[in-house]
Amino acid sequence: MRHKKVYGRLAPSPTGYIHLGNAWAFLLAWLAARSQKGVLILRIEDIDAQRSRAEFAAALLEDLRWLGIDWDYGPDTKNAEGANTPYEQSKRTPFYEEALDRLSATGMTYPCFCTRKELRLLASAPHDEDAGAPYPGTCRALTGAQQKKLFQSGRKAAVRLRCPDAPVVFHDAVQGAQRRCLPDCGGDFALRRSDGVIAYQLATTVDDALMGITQVVRGRDILLSTPRQIALFNLLGYTAPMYAHIPLLKDRNGERLAKRHKSLALRTLRSQGVDNRRIVGLLGHYAGLNPAGHPCRPQELLAGFSLERLPKTDITVTDKNLHDLLLRS
Ligand code: GLU
Repeated sequence: MRHKKVYGRLAPSPTGYIHLGNAWAFLLAWLAARSQKGVLILRIEDIDAQRSRAEFAAALLEDLRWLGIDWDYGPDTKNAEGANTPYEQSKRTPFYEEALDRLSATGMTYPCFCTRKELRLLASAPHDEDAGAPYPGTCRALTGAQQKKLFQSGRKAAVRLRCPDAPVVFHDAVQGAQRRCLPDCGGDFALRRSDGVIAYQLATTVDDALMGITQVVRGRDILLSTPRQIALFNLLGYTAPMYAHIPLLKDRNGERLAKRHKSLALRTLRSQGVDNRRIVGLLGHYAGLNPAGHPCRPQELLAGFSLERLPKTDITVTDKNLHDLLLRS
């Protein structure tokens, strides 16, 4: 399904409490959709059961609402929309398996018997940090007989995509024109891991396709996943959405804000009595929409918003910003 209207999405992984960096990405995705009178879907990316926890999923819905971010369809909304449900990846396995079967039927996939240890050794080779070490194609050319023997010996296999050679070309609303070869983006990537878990690239692509997503706004750290996802859209016969990869918020050491920056978790800030409008005001300041960083609600940032005008380089969250705009009473 593809809509004329803008369909954006928020796609959090419930692996911890959300922090200022997540709030930044979700606020921009919200502004991008709402400034075009678009629809927003909230999808819980809990495909990896080992890393995901239901309590984090519940907490993130609450934290986002507290911030003033809303959505039209999600696990907690009543207006279910036919084939788009459910909104938790852990409940969508049949959709992913169907797509995997279709790809496999065209001969585009192959089983990969490489162990984690073997793959870890590869990781010591130089590689673009965002894409991981390129898979060297060890199992690409195994014959049917070799595969059978390995299966019979009890080896578990991941399923990889035989990546097309043609470069993937797309326009990113923030990062500009992109032309990427899949071998530079990690090479043949996994669609299903050897433990049976569907890989992020496949799950996200299938969901974005079936949910009719037309606009994906997410962190710049995922930019090198996008050519892989566009390749999957093409192979599965879907139209890829428009992408915008936004700059990252970093700490003073240049590290991307992450769930381990516990002091910047929305829950922590809230428990310290920080006003939600101050957080939105600070994020609006970083986005260039609220120069003085006045406390505000997300709606107040809509008027001046445009993806094209967002800053293109990463932003350092300084102690001074935190003190002046968030914490000072
Ligand atoms: N679930 C991913 C995350 O929380 C985001 C994936 C995406 O936006 O495609 O990092």
